[in-house]
Amino acid sequence: MAASSHIVQVAVPTPLRRAFDYLSPVYLPPGMRVRVSFGRREVVGIVVGEVERSDLPHSRLKPITQSLDAGSILAPPLLDLLCWAADYYHHPLGEVIYTALPTRLRQGRAAVISGVTVWILTPEAKAVDPETLKRAPAQKRLLQRLAEAPEGLEAEQLAQISPRWAAGLKALRTKGWVSSHQRDSQPIFDRDVEPSPVLNPGQKSAVVAITADLGHFRPYLLHGVTGSGKTEVYLNVIEQVLAQGKQTLALVPEINLTPQLVDRFERRFRVPIAVLHSGLNEQERLNAWLAARDGKAPIVLGTRSAVFTPLKNPGLIVVDEEHDASYKQQDGFRYSARDVAVMRASREKIPIVLGSATPSLESLRNARDGTYTLLELPDRTGGAGMPEVRLLDMRRLKPSEGLSLPVREAIAARLAKGEQSILFLNRRGFAPVWMCFDCGWVAPCRRCDAQLTLHQKRQKLLCHHCGAEQEIARRCPSCQGENLHPLGEGTERVEGALQKFFPRACIERVDRDSTSRKGALEEKLRRVHSGEADILVGTQMLSKGHDFPNVTLVGVLNADQGLYGTDFRSSERLFQLIMQVSGRAGRADKPGEVLIQTWHPDHPLFSALQRHDFHGFAGFALTERRETGYPPYSHLALLRAESPAPGAALKFLHEAHVLAVRLVPEKGLQIMAPVPAPMERRAGRYRAQLLVQSSKRVPLHTFLSLWVEQLAESKFSKKVRWSLDVDPMDMY
Ligand code: ADP
Ligand code: ZN
Ligand code: ZN
Repeated sequence: MAASSHIVQVAVPTPLRRAFDYLSPVYLPPGMRVRVSFGRREVVGIVVGEVERSDLPHSRLKPITQSLDAGSILAPPLLDLLCWAADYYHHPLGEVIYTALPTRLRQGRAAVISGVTVWILTPEAKAVDPETLKRAPAQKRLLQRLAEAPEGLEAEQLAQISPRWAAGLKALRTKGWVSSHQRDSQPIFDRDVEPSPVLNPGQKSAVVAITADLGHFRPYLLHGVTGSGKTEVYLNVIEQVLAQGKQTLALVPEINLTPQLVDRFERRFRVPIAVLHSGLNEQERLNAWLAARDGKAPIVLGTRSAVFTPLKNPGLIVVDEEHDASYKQQDGFRYSARDVAVMRASREKIPIVLGSATPSLESLRNARDGTYTLLELPDRTGGAGMPEVRLLDMRRLKPSEGLSLPVREAIAARLAKGEQSILFLNRRGFAPVWMCFDCGWVAPCRRCDAQLTLHQKRQKLLCHHCGAEQEIARRCPSCQGENLHPLGEGTERVEGALQKFFPRACIERVDRDSTSRKGALEEKLRRVHSGEADILVGTQMLSKGHDFPNVTLVGVLNADQGLYGTDFRSSERLFQLIMQVSGRAGRADKPGEVLIQTWHPDHPLFSALQRHDFHGFAGFALTERRETGYPPYSHLALLRAESPAPGAALKFLHEAHVLAVRLVPEKGLQIMAPVPAPMERRAGRYRAQLLVQSSKRVPLHTFLSLWVEQLAESKFSKKVRWSLDVDPMDMY
């Protein structure tokens, strides 16, 4: 080997589970981006190391085409974390690293902060009638859309308006009708900051405990009901982290649903906060990433993928609502941001605070066995009591369109007092079933083993699993009768029923359908806060983070969904959900009430809810898990497969099963038989799964590495789409 050449290992975005060797005349540090030819393509890869010798003969090694950075853009601790994650989740390293990079960097663009150019109409253009541009449709459309966007549009947005946008824009500029501006990518920090309230004893001891040991890895589980002051604890700890010149990474389940939280952070600290939300364009995202990496953003606030944000001086990680399922990525690289965050904190040697009103049983067990330090905030702040929880026995109450009499009366009482109510129903659309009342036929999805949901406003039957849309059948395809009706209720139907019962009330529906338009959710939330809205009906979107001081009634309309679900986590989810929505009710001066409609009022889950007894619920849930051998008393991995050909997925899993059984040397490792997924056909694909269960983590991962490698190389794996889900959250 020539002394002047180095063999560098490069991770590239490919499903192949390894790095590739290239030649470079100079040393290239790990974490630097390079352009390399890969197959017939040129791709952007990341240097992950250097080797003395390659498996390939020297003559077959290709040179690096170009290095894209002056040095490493991923610091060693972060790169190490990504390598660990690729290992742990058995996912190709190149794809894992790509997850951590903003799109611009994946595209090979320069890693530099720059302003964002936007195009704005000039005053002259505002007098122009778009109809005069009838013969230049691209210009006309650009003009119309720019007129609706006084803050200006970026090239990316203009490109979506017309394929001929570039020529159209040029013409408009020549006419003097549009001009370009630089939008500042960093907000300005001249705001006044709000002081912290005086902490109560629980908060104080939590803050003292966490800050006593800044500079060391220590995981804390902060448990306290909604309104008990957890966020205030985070803010006080962050203040001390800032004082040490260190950065905080705070993860939240859904930023767009929790503008109040961002607001609170921004009101408290006069430092740049990089908020990574879905509304950012690619340059803004890159700017925020770089600001975090260079230490210019002392606070980084983001959702799941923000866990991979580079930090120059990490000092603290906060994971709010740590139980939330959205921390787990459900496709591709199926990581849990919460678990990665804990691993990251341990590698960076910093504390991590996991907060929740309803911790996951996994975290709770870690707290019970001393792996995590449990911090409790027992009371709501400001003397607010817990809402009274009443169970409505639906075996005796006849609901009208999903609403029992006590619920209707309770709403009427709130309306009379000028207070607000929230009704929670985990089902969007008008009715979950469209049925023939003569012969019992129900409208099925053609591509899924599922029924279609009636959406009355749109006058369509929709599949909530694959998104398919069908016309509403007026004649029964089975008996030719015309006696077809909706069965059951979704948010749309309940909204209509409320309008009938309370014609003068202002009702807001919050679900995916009613908030799909940009700004619609914000507008609805604004109407709730201003008091214009009287009744809020919606899906679990309502359970997240909102703080509505004037809401004194929460109704849970279909609590039983999930009580006897197929997933072993169903009841844990149900408990969390009801506890979260209950947390929306009542504040200090206005006690709240929670009404739960159920056919199973004797279920222990509900009595625990009535007592606000998380630990009581967790006690019996953990016992059940121990008896059934499910997490946190075992570790799971789920091999999933799907194919448009019936039987192909199962066949693949049978082959995989044979391989697995041959590999398994360990006791305590159980390979289950392959089974069809609970909903076997979805979007035209037949799905099946194979569960691996182990009492210990290490042998499980040793096994998975070998197994996945063999699977990837096997011929039969080419015929189906398959994936491995380590620590699966959903068992479908
Ligand atoms: P959580 O995050 O547990 O829901 P928050 O920190 O948001 O709780 O606190 C709930 C409300 O009580 C907020 O309006 C907050 O400003 C207020 N609050 C929190 N701690 C205190 C305190 N020690 N004194 C007065 N008000 C407080
Ligand atoms: Zn029929
Ligand atoms: Zn479908």
